[in-house]
Amino acid sequence: FLKGKTAIVTGSTSGIGLAYAKALAAEGASVVINGFGDADAIEKERAALEATSGAKALYDAADMTKPDQIAAMVQRAHDELGGPDIVINNAGIQHVSKIEDFPIDKWDAVIAINLTSAFHVIRAAVPFMKEKKWGRIISTASAHSKVASPNKAAYVAAKHGIAGLTKTVALETATYGITANAISPGYVWTPLVEAQIPDTMSTRGLTREQVINDVLLEAQPTKEFVTAEQVAAFALFLCRDEAAQITGANLSIDGGWTA
Ligand code: NAD
Repeated sequence: FLKGKTAIVTGSTSGIGLAYAKALAAEGASVVINGFGDADAIEKERAALEATSGAKALYDAADMTKPDQIAAMVQRAHDELGGPDIVINNAGIQHVSKIEDFPIDKWDAVIAINLTSAFHVIRAAVPFMKEKKWGRIISTASAHSKVASPNKAAYVAAKHGIAGLTKTVALETATYGITANAISPGYVWTPLVEAQIPDTMSTRGLTREQVINDVLLEAQPTKEFVTAEQVAAFALFLCRDEAAQITGANLSIDGGWTA
C-alpha cells in the first residue's frame, strides 16, 4: 500500500530502524536508510530492500549530530526519490551514568542524536509534505518518554522532548493531511539494549542475568522483550489512511510497563 511513497528512516542500519525499513520496503515504498556500520553490510541491506520493494533504496551517511548533513539527506530524498512522504526519526544512543558523574559530552550527544536530529528532519521535510497534502511523521520515543529510570538523565530528557515536539508538529500540520506521532516501546532486544548491560552491571553491581531479569524485564509486566518487527508493524499502521485521525499521540508498545 506504499507504492510510489518515499520514506526516510534515521538510524536504520541496525535494530528497530532496520525493521522499519524492511517493513516499509515490503509495502513497496522507496526507502532512504541511514546510520553507521560496516559499508559492505549496509550495501547488502540496501540491495535487499530494493529487491523486496521493487522500488529504490538509498543509503545516506548523514551524521545525526550534524544539521547540515541532515538537511542534505532530506533534500536528497526529494531530488532523487520525490519524497519524503514518510519520515521516521529513530536514530538513538544511550548513556548510563549517575547525574553527578554524567559526562557533559555524552549529555550533548544524546540530546543531539535522540532529540535535536528529529527537529532537523521534521523542519526540512514538512514543506515537501505540505505541498503534497500528505505526510507521516513518526518518531521512536520510548517508555522513557513517559516515565523515568535512574542513571539515564539525558535519554529520559530527550525522549520526553520527542513527545513534546511530536504534539507541537501535529498541531501545526493538522490541516495538511500530515500526522505526527511517537511510538514508545518498552525494552526491545537490539544492540542498543545489549550494549548497556555492562554499564548497568557495574553501576548497580549486578550480574548479566540480574540486569536482564531484575532491571530490564523488571519493568515489563509481560516479562517478554518487545520485538523490532512488532514496532515496525505498528509504524506501518500509522502510515495507512485508516490512521489519518491518529495525530499528536504518544503510543505505547511496552508490555504494560507504563500501565
Ligand atoms: P541500535 O543501536 O540497534 O540502532 C541505533 C541506530 O542509530 C543505528 O543504525 C546507529 O548506526 C544509528 N546511529 C547512532 N548514532 C547515529 C548518528 N550520530 N547518526 C546517524 N545514525 C546514528 O538501537 P535500537 O534499539 O534499534 O534503537 C532505535 C531507537 O529506538 C532509538 O531511538 C532508541 O532510543 C529507541 N528505543 C529502543 C528501545 C530498545 O529497547 N531497544 C526501547 C525504546 C526506544
